[in-house]
Amino acid sequence: MHELGITQSIVDAVLDAIEEPRITRLQLEIGKLSGVVPDSVRFCFDLVASGTALDGARLDIVEPPGRGACRSCGHTCEFDDPIVLCPCGSADVQVRSGRELKITAVDVG
Ligand SMILES: [Zn+2]
Repeated sequence: MHELGITQSIVDAVLDAIEEPRITRLQLEIGKLSGVVPDSVRFCFDLVASGTALDGARLDIVEPPGRGACRSCGHTCEFDDPIVLCPCGSADVQVRSGRELKITAVDVG
């Protein structure tokens, strides 16, 4: 489960950057094309955050849809699947968003 490593990295990054004794909320952006499963991150977060300043923090996850433009037909559409395929059948799609994996907000208490 690679979400455990990802969640650990996120928690480490937050704890490195924020020196408050208590963090009450963490907001993440996990694009639908990132290949990261938000529910797994939620599950891992409780494990990884336990005993740190993030223990008990609320985890909000925003999931931007995948968006891209097909190079074959010019169609712009939204994708929910990491395997991007245009309705015209082409896989030659330039992905413009949906691969985000970042921390967007941290609230300290
Ligand atoms: Zn197309």
